[in-house]
Amino acid sequence: MRIEATLPAAQYYDEEVSRLLDLEAKRQSDTINLIASENHVSGAILKAQGSLATDKYAEGYPGRRYYSGCAHIDAIENLAIARAKKLFDAEHANVQPHSGSQANMAAYLALLGHGDVVMGLNLSHGGHLTHGAQVNFSGKWYKFVSYGVDSKTEMLDYDEIERLALQHKPKLIVAGASAYSRTIDFERFRYIADKVDAKLLADMAHIAGIVAAGLHLSPLPHAHVVTSTTQKTLRGPRGGLILCHEELSSAIDAAVFPGVQGGPLMHSIAAKAICFLEAGQPEFVSYQQSVLRNARALALKLQECGLRLVSGGTDNHLVIADLSSIGINGKEAEEMLEAVGILVNKESIPFDPKPPYIASGIRLGTPAVTTRGFGVEEMRRVASLIFEVLHHTGDKLVSKQVREEVKEMCQCFPIRR
Ligand SMILES: *Cc1c(COP(=O)(O)O)cnc(C)c1O
Repeated sequence: MRIEATLPAAQYYDEEVSRLLDLEAKRQSDTINLIASENHVSGAILKAQGSLATDKYAEGYPGRRYYSGCAHIDAIENLAIARAKKLFDAEHANVQPHSGSQANMAAYLALLGHGDVVMGLNLSHGGHLTHGAQVNFSGKWYKFVSYGVDSKTEMLDYDEIERLALQHKPKLIVAGASAYSRTIDFERFRYIADKVDAKLLADMAHIAGIVAAGLHLSPLPHAHVVTSTTQKTLRGPRGGLILCHEELSSAIDAAVFPGVQGGPLMHSIAAKAICFLEAGQPEFVSYQQSVLRNARALALKLQECGLRLVSGGTDNHLVIADLSSIGINGKEAEEMLEAVGILVNKESIPFDPKPPYIASGIRLGTPAVTTRGFGVEEMRRVASLIFEVLHHTGDKLVSKQVREEVKEMCQCFPIRR
């Protein structure tokens, strides 16, 4: 990629940034990306994100801006809002959050006061930092009570969640996860929330694309507020989204701006509009079907190789493997696999004795490789390669062979934009 432009002052070519972006492009094309939160956007989305809409200041909302010259920007944001509402069958959409974390921050600001009691999924059982981690604003500003998974099934223990809710009387319950491979029962969560007169926030950051395709039950009919990212399974630009019922719309909008953000990223909002259109196409449903099929194939093959999977399998796009039985930790596995061009991330398993920066497991996801065309055969092959690497620690010959095979597979499935 040649980053060059004519500035008023001089012909300008940034050799360093151009070179680094070229290297990043090569890295993406030559590696098998199983990072569950990543994906590859379309050329259209890439273009919109690199567009001159980035120049425009548009604090406020369409028709109610603090700047002049917003006619076309208003039309872009209105389009993104209308498409998001249609895609998820929502009454109200705010497309301005800069990221999933900002979406959660704004939702909390709209629904909670400082020090209120909230329930969220334990980080080491698959929750997100913004669901009450002590290092995050959520854990510092609100009194989070963590719920977890059952120690035997490693699935959400709804009876226990209900018991905790009755005991702690939260004002808000957060349902959603970053590393949970099973279906989330949003209806059950709403039943529990109603019992204690709490609001329910569904954070569908990871599963939004699967929800959009109708392959995971939608949280929309059950949650008071739904937050999401747009860059994960939804395959859009890096960004956030909030959906809610009409009665909470003013509170949510005011919480995003001026509550926690200034000017919206209009280039990202243009890209979100395209993302919501793409996600409404029949091809997107086939894509999500492949994402799920691939995750099941990956899970099955890893199990056939003898690895233990958290909760025993997957209902969605991700798989969490517990490596403690084969004597390596998540950090080592992540490094060994990166060395052969397979990208995963270390992940705590429920009740993990190891600290999160070491962790006993790895998280693997299929959204990115499915976008580049991998199918069930390729997933089974990748699972075998992972197993070979993890079983031959320090064997240079195995590493070399696997690296070659990874490159070959990548060449067969170029990332098309
Ligand atoms: C990824 C994620 C987020 C935050 O998204 P960012 O865009 O990285 O801020 C929030 N909640 C959940 C459940 C996530 O998985």
